[in-house]
Amino acid sequence: MNLADIILPLAVEGVFTYLLPDDSPFVPDAGQRVVVPLGKQKEVVGVIQHIRRSAEGEDTSNYRPVLRFPETFAMVTPEQLALWQWLAQYYMCTIGEAMRTALPNTMRADRTSRPRKQVETDFSIQPAHPLNEQQQRAEREIYAAWEQHPTVLLYGVTSSGKTEVYIHLAQHQIARGKTMLYLVPEIALTTQLTERLRRVFGDRLGVYHSRLTDRERLDIYKNVLAGDKYDIVIGVRSALFLPFKALGMIIVDEEHDTSYKQQDPAPRYHARTVAQKLAALHGAKVLLGTATPAVETYYNALNGKYGLVEMKQRFAGLALPAIHLLDLHKAYKQKKMEGHFSYPLVVRIREQLEAGKQVLLFQNRRGYNSYVECRECGFIPKCVNCDVSLTEHKPVAAGLTSRLVCHYCGYSIPAPAVCPQCGKGIPADHGFGTEKIEEEARQLFPEARIARMDTDTMHTKDAHEQMIRRFAEHRIDILVGTQMITKGLHFRDVSLVAVLKADAMLHQPDFRAYERAYQMLEQVSGRAGRSGTEGHVILQTSDIENPVFAHLKKHDYETMYAEQTEERKMFRYPPFHRIIGLTLRHRELSRLEAASRTLHERLTLVFGTRCSGIIVPGISRVQNQYIRQLMLKIEANASYAKAKQLLAQELLYVKTLPPCKGILITPDVDPM
Ligand code: ADP
Ligand code: ZN
Repeated sequence: MNLADIILPLAVEGVFTYLLPDDSPFVPDAGQRVVVPLGKQKEVVGVIQHIRRSAEGEDTSNYRPVLRFPETFAMVTPEQLALWQWLAQYYMCTIGEAMRTALPNTMRADRTSRPRKQVETDFSIQPAHPLNEQQQRAEREIYAAWEQHPTVLLYGVTSSGKTEVYIHLAQHQIARGKTMLYLVPEIALTTQLTERLRRVFGDRLGVYHSRLTDRERLDIYKNVLAGDKYDIVIGVRSALFLPFKALGMIIVDEEHDTSYKQQDPAPRYHARTVAQKLAALHGAKVLLGTATPAVETYYNALNGKYGLVEMKQRFAGLALPAIHLLDLHKAYKQKKMEGHFSYPLVVRIREQLEAGKQVLLFQNRRGYNSYVECRECGFIPKCVNCDVSLTEHKPVAAGLTSRLVCHYCGYSIPAPAVCPQCGKGIPADHGFGTEKIEEEARQLFPEARIARMDTDTMHTKDAHEQMIRRFAEHRIDILVGTQMITKGLHFRDVSLVAVLKADAMLHQPDFRAYERAYQMLEQVSGRAGRSGTEGHVILQTSDIENPVFAHLKKHDYETMYAEQTEERKMFRYPPFHRIIGLTLRHRELSRLEAASRTLHERLTLVFGTRCSGIIVPGISRVQNQYIRQLMLKIEANASYAKAKQLLAQELLYVKTLPPCKGILITPDVDPM
């Protein structure tokens, strides 16, 4: 009897065995899609992992037959199947969950996938820029380093010309008949970058971003599967799951970026880690590029796990921007503030505007720290579903009223005209977000053209692109923005970048807060002075003694790194220990607490002090579910696979214990 072990898109462990028809007009193959019955009524689309004869003595009477084959050929390659298997093991999820994340939605529907149509577009191809001396040296060193290490870190300061190096490497790959994958963080995938690559690669470039329609996604998938359409695919993290053939190189640009980590759903993977596995499956090389490496990455580069290549000069001899610190504490005391702008900052901005330059104003995170509070009684409106305060959103059109919004679940209410608690005061906006900064800037610089870019203003499909274009064409003088403006953008006329409150991001209860603050501030500074114009950065802070600012002033990543690794060693964090987070969720607090205690007890028996105490997270209720966490810290030199195996066993076991029944427990391997 011919049997097929089939992967179904379910959060259930393992594969499912079905009978293959004897009279199929073709020989079914691993990687092929099938439609199979599930339960009493349902039909689902799965993928054949493996075809085999029934084993001696295997009872096949319960197996049901495969119903249909949507195509006669495999839509999933052997490398993809191997990658899914690995994802399930490494990230402690089911192979069905890996498949669900990896395949375009449309491929999970029972529809025949027709061979793709070729649409030829004409692009005028231009040669790439010749590399300068530093870039040529970097290129040579990258090749030499790849001889020893499959993964190499290209650590090059902002605007050192890394992108041009990537282009040259890609051209060599293509000349050798290989394809390449160019990964970028979510927001960095802009027309600025794709147009630059289009000029060199024309229609041999595939672009895989998160705003594609299902149809477009499937088209790119089929193009990659056919293997003859693209030489290079640029995409966000999910592009890792395309059916590559003859992959020669993967570039992970801005490798430090946190959007490379998938938070939800499972698999909670990190693109940097998956890229290395994918490359290994293809015998390909990986290049990690950044001006501010993740601490883990730099550690691996210094300790011989990765190769290391550096570019310390900006392209064309430009200087790195000069960083100036402004003591907010003092400025407030001396009453030298206009709203959130210190006097010196106001003066600097006026100077730049008069000189016909552009200014970027950075405020971390939309509505960050921005909550509403009654000035009479201190009442703070909170979300009914989550343990977070609501943020005020100004009306989008005249005649509408402001709303208070939860950034976690979207719950919103009209802003109350009078405090519901004391009936006297008016709950008003106390923190300061980008909206507030924009409003103040309009008053301070009435003659300037001002725009704001954050996730609130940028929800339409092309709004982000258009805003970048308008700013690049200097049709905007001052751009106020969040993280969105830190990523890989290149604006000619920006001479001044200011961060209104640079310490806000330092005070987060996360061992990576310091590293992230450094990365973000260095990256946002890197937008200043990128062509000819001298670049200046003003960091306003009420924590001026914080060592991070001294490091930033000197662009001294290495000292920041040294301090961080000291601390991480002491507190058993990565790169010295690896972390597996466990999150427990339930609607009833008492049940959740009992389950947390049980899990904690069990894990402490197995893992000893590697298991943390029960953690009540900063936001301890979301969408009506209470949340508790545990953390396992596994020594970097211990077997990670073994630890996960033990953990998986324990999780299976505790789920059978009464306090844990019905409690959702989700592991997060290498959480961020
Ligand atoms: P990075 O990726 O390191 O931030 P880019 O590759 O964006 O730097 O380069 C910064 C600027 O210098 C860009 O405007 C780019 O076009 C220009 N540039 C870099 N290398 C070259 C080169 N070899 N020839 C001409 N222009 C270059
Ligand atoms: Zn909420």
